[in-house]
Amino acid sequence: MSVIQRNTRTIDLSAIENNMRAIRASVPPQAKVLAVVKADGYGHGAVETARAAIRGGAEMLAVAAVSEGIQLRKAGIEIPILVLGAVSPFDVQAGTEYSLIQTVCSPEMVYLCEETGDALGKQTEVHMKIDTGMGRIGVRNEEERDLVLKAAGDCPHVKITGVFTHFSDADGNEDGIAFTKEQYKKFLKLTESLPETVLRHCCNSAAIHRFPEMALDMVRAGISLYGYPPVPTETELKPCMTWTATVSYVKELPAGSFVSYGRTYQNDKPVRAATVTCGYADGYFRSCGKEGYVLIRGKRAKIIGRICMDQMMADVTDIDGVAAGDEVVLMGQSGNESIDAEEIASWTGTISYEILCSSAGRVDRQYFNHH
Ligand SMILES: *Cc1c(COP(=O)(O)O)cnc(C)c1O
Repeated sequence: MSVIQRNTRTIDLSAIENNMRAIRASVPPQAKVLAVVKADGYGHGAVETARAAIRGGAEMLAVAAVSEGIQLRKAGIEIPILVLGAVSPFDVQAGTEYSLIQTVCSPEMVYLCEETGDALGKQTEVHMKIDTGMGRIGVRNEEERDLVLKAAGDCPHVKITGVFTHFSDADGNEDGIAFTKEQYKKFLKLTESLPETVLRHCCNSAAIHRFPEMALDMVRAGISLYGYPPVPTETELKPCMTWTATVSYVKELPAGSFVSYGRTYQNDKPVRAATVTCGYADGYFRSCGKEGYVLIRGKRAKIIGRICMDQMMADVTDIDGVAAGDEVVLMGQSGNESIDAEEIASWTGTISYEILCSSAGRVDRQYFNHH
């Protein structure tokens, strides 16, 4: 017996592969390309995304946490994986066992890797993080850098193979551009004394497109891999995720009817309304209720009333023939109309990243162009 899913996020794996190929082609040839697949591949599925990115030319992967790296290793992925978050006593052992590259930014973190590596009889690769203005993790000056380097020099089970920083405003306005250039200068100054063999990397997606001259030895592509470049670019990138639900019920509402909690919506003319099988517990932001639309039969239908936990309502008065069972496109294309993650984000004052990542556990995920 087949069961219809309430709503589904469908991932085009060829699009991910093609995006990676396009990014690869746009980056200076000496630079490696790392695919950032943290947060379950920005909601696209970490393992499938990683495999598609590797087919497209990714030479390294990055995740936020050791647990995410282990998931990739268990799926048989063997290329280097960098854990972007600072190494911690809670997961250093697993990180070492699964041969993940761990991030250090203090001598204590280096010693932690050393003790673990010593106990396991295994050398741990680490990248040193430099804070050039993000204010998150990283050494902040020459003295702190030298303490980490000295600690690593004393630790036979720790090998520094990379050094990196993160830009906080590479997609910003003129001030952001100036600040990014300052961050880059600081990064060069703090890393110039390191051996050539240590990989230097600093570019996120925005910087990949805006500052190809900052590519150094590797770039880290996140959001652009998923088709949402944060700045205008000539690199051809396509969104890889669509999100669809179903019309469960259609009704005629006489003038003066209320729809949904709090009675925030009341029609002054008769309206035909469709109920849709998606709500905020599926990851559709409740705050999209005021300005949002969905697509039904190639037309835009305005969301009316508050979005509920499992359902929402849309005005289909001007769309002919809407019936229970119709497909509802929450994100993607229907006829000549389309809604992308940027537009959904604009209804609720967030960014495409958060819309892509918001998928909840019960949402079905389908892949196409699967290898
Ligand atoms: C998430 C992340 C990235 C990717 O950023 P995008 O803007 O998605 O390209 C790169 N580097 C670090 C350190 C990150 O945390």
